[in-house]
Amino acid sequence: MMNKYKAINRRKSNRIYVGNVPIGNNAPISVQSMTNTKTTDIQDTINQIDQLKRVGVDIIRISIPTKEAAEAFKIIKKKTNIPLIADIHFDYRLAIKSIQYGADCLRINPGNIGKKRKINEIVSCAKDNNIPIRIGINSGSLEHDILKKYKSPLPEALVESAIRSIEHFDSLNFHQFKVSVKASDVFSAVKANKILAKKITQPIHIGITESGSIRNGTVKSSIGIASLLSEGIGDTLRVSLAAHPIEEVKVGYDILKVLGIRFRGINFIACPTCSRQEFDVIKVVKDLEKKLEDIETSMDVSIIGCVVNGLGEAKMANLGVTGGYKKSGLYQDGIRQKNKLNNKDIVRELEIYIRKKSSELKNKNDN
Ligand code: SF4
Repeated sequence: MMNKYKAINRRKSNRIYVGNVPIGNNAPISVQSMTNTKTTDIQDTINQIDQLKRVGVDIIRISIPTKEAAEAFKIIKKKTNIPLIADIHFDYRLAIKSIQYGADCLRINPGNIGKKRKINEIVSCAKDNNIPIRIGINSGSLEHDILKKYKSPLPEALVESAIRSIEHFDSLNFHQFKVSVKASDVFSAVKANKILAKKITQPIHIGITESGSIRNGTVKSSIGIASLLSEGIGDTLRVSLAAHPIEEVKVGYDILKVLGIRFRGINFIACPTCSRQEFDVIKVVKDLEKKLEDIETSMDVSIIGCVVNGLGEAKMANLGVTGGYKKSGLYQDGIRQKNKLNNKDIVRELEIYIRKKSSELKNKNDN
C-alpha cells in the first residue's frame, strides 16, 4: 500500500555485530528481549527462546546470576541459533565464563563490577573471543561517587557514568561496544540519551527500564522510545515490561511500525466498536493477533464492525473487512470481493485469506 511515512534521519554510529545481527551504521533497528525463566531450568528457557523467535525477536538476553546459571547457559547456547547476550552483574568471573561458553555479547554495568582490574579482564576476554559488550548504565545502580556528586540519578549522572566506562574501554583499545543509559522515568531516560547521542559514536541501545505492567509499561516505553527514534537516536531496543517477554517483542515491533522504521507482521486496523457492530470485533482481532503472530510479512488488515467506516479503511488496506448482517464484506487491495465472510466463522475464514495474502506479498517481495 502507499508509503505514508516520513523518513527519519538516523544518527550516524559505528557498526558492531551481536552474532550475525548488525547493530549501528544504519542497520535495521533490532528488537531484543530477555528470558524470565530460571536460567538453570534449561528446557523452560529454551522453550521461551522458541516463543520469542516465533514473534520475531532478533537478540535474546539471559541472566547469569550464578555459576550454575553459567553452566546452563553453555548448554542453552548449543541448542539455539539466535544470538544470546549474557547479562552479568557483580561477578566478573561469570562474565568470563559466559564468554568462554559462547555468549555473542555481554551486558555489564561497570558500576557494579567493581575494580578496574576486573573490567580489564572482561574486556581482554571479549577481545580474544571477538565479541562485543554493552555498557548498560541504569539509574538504579550508579557508581557511589557519581551518585554523591549529583545527589540523584539525573540524566547528566547517567551520562557521566557511561562516559567513564567508554573512556576506560577506549584506553584498553576496545571498540566493539554499545551503550545504554536507562531510567524508569521517561523524561530522564530521553534526556540522558539525547545528551549521550551528541557525545559518542558507538551504537546506542534504548529502552525505558522497569517501565511497569503491560499497559503502563507500553505507554511509557512507547512515548520514551518513540521520542528518541523519531530524532534518529537508537540502534537497538528493548521494551521492558512486567509481562511475558513475547509482549516486549510485539510492542517493540509495533513502535517501529507506527514510526515507519521497520515492518514485521500484520498491522491490524480495528474500530473501537459500538452497538452497530455486526460481529464481535474485539474478540476477532484478539484471536487473529494470537493466531497470526508468526507472520513476518508486513501487511495492513482492517477489521471494522459496520459500513460506517468499514469501506474507507478497507480501501487503504491489503485486506479489509466491513461488518454486514450475518455476512461481512471482504476487500483485497481495496477491491470488493464476491465472497463474503460468515460472521459466525469469521476468524477461521479470515485467517485463511490473510495467510494466502501474506504468501502472495512475500513472493512478490522476494522476486
Ligand atoms: Fe461502530 Fe461501525 Fe464505527 Fe465500528 S465502524 S465503531 S461498529 S459505527
